[in-house]
Amino acid sequence: MPSNARNLDFVTEAQLRDLVDFEGRGEIISTLYMDVSGKSHPRKSDYVSKAQQLIRSGKRAFNATSPTKKTLAVVSADLSRIQAFIEGEFRRKSAQGLAVFACSPRGLFQHFALPQIPKDRVVLEASPFVRPLNALVSEYSRYGIVLIGRKTARLFIFYMGALIEEAISVVDDVHGRHEQGGWSQARFSRHIEAEVARHIRHTAREAESAFAAAGVERIVVAGSKDITVEFLKALTKPSRDRVVARPGLKQSATVDEVARLVAEIEREAEARDDAELVAAVRAGMSKGKSVAGLAATLTALNSGRAQVLLVSRGYSCEGWRCVGCDSIAAIGPECPVCSDRMHRVSDVVEEAIESSLSQHVRTEIVTGNGDLDVFGRIAALLRF
Ligand SMILES: [Zn+2]
Repeated sequence: MPSNARNLDFVTEAQLRDLVDFEGRGEIISTLYMDVSGKSHPRKSDYVSKAQQLIRSGKRAFNATSPTKKTLAVVSADLSRIQAFIEGEFRRKSAQGLAVFACSPRGLFQHFALPQIPKDRVVLEASPFVRPLNALVSEYSRYGIVLIGRKTARLFIFYMGALIEEAISVVDDVHGRHEQGGWSQARFSRHIEAEVARHIRHTAREAESAFAAAGVERIVVAGSKDITVEFLKALTKPSRDRVVARPGLKQSATVDEVARLVAEIEREAEARDDAELVAAVRAGMSKGKSVAGLAATLTALNSGRAQVLLVSRGYSCEGWRCVGCDSIAAIGPECPVCSDRMHRVSDVVEEAIESSLSQHVRTEIVTGNGDLDVFGRIAALLRF
């Protein structure tokens, strides 16, 4: 399969930040998330009619809030455009989900393929509904894979489980091991080893520049053990620090085999990172370097002290937001910061994530970490 068939419009961290910072200036932003997987919707007409349903019920619910005529017209037009996009231009390829953001008066129309199935919904609010996207972005890193052999190498870049860059081949002119010519065996072997070493160094430079250009965060060096050991030595220190795995893999591996390997490595690396962060929360608590539980974490976010926010996947809880100072709290109605009155919010965890994102605080959605659940499903590492 040509790799460009896999190219999908996955969200980048920069695009997510732009959405978080997007100012509606009083306009309503239409957001749609939906399952477009082949499993749920075998044919295009299946997810097209699902989209119609979602949009219809979203519009009905919005109507019930008695919007102005002008606002309703904008929302109707934006939802129609989303519908038209799904019916027309959109190709799901290997995407499992779709997210679309629209606000025509502010020139916003953006769509992203999702590697996981999101909860189906249409959200019509004064800001883009980004929480599900953020959860995804926090889970995935850009992976650069070097599949290195004695005279050839293949480079791949994966993001969200899909190949996003054409595989690049590096072929160096290394003679076969047994083409002896007139040389003595020992001299010939030295010559070959020098050529292999040059090939390894050359591949290291190629990989480093391709990976830097693509914003690769983690590197996998695959191949036979003796070659990968040498390759590691040829990398610069910053690149070597990004190497997360060194699996054995044949040069002839298919893209699907590489993809499966990356998916497995990514799951393990993510779980390891989460465990490290949770361990840092535990270690920091007695020293005042971290907090856990809803109330303490919200306080840290309100005061801008959070450096990393950790939230267990699926955690949500009712809470409060202050009318006066915009603080969020677990218990109301009196604001713990300014004593003003607060109003109820249906999910204060969601508000916490949005507050964290808008402060550009690293936000990690943690899956299946029992220790974080014991801490109250939410915690933060503090900057001071
Ligand atoms: Zn307040």
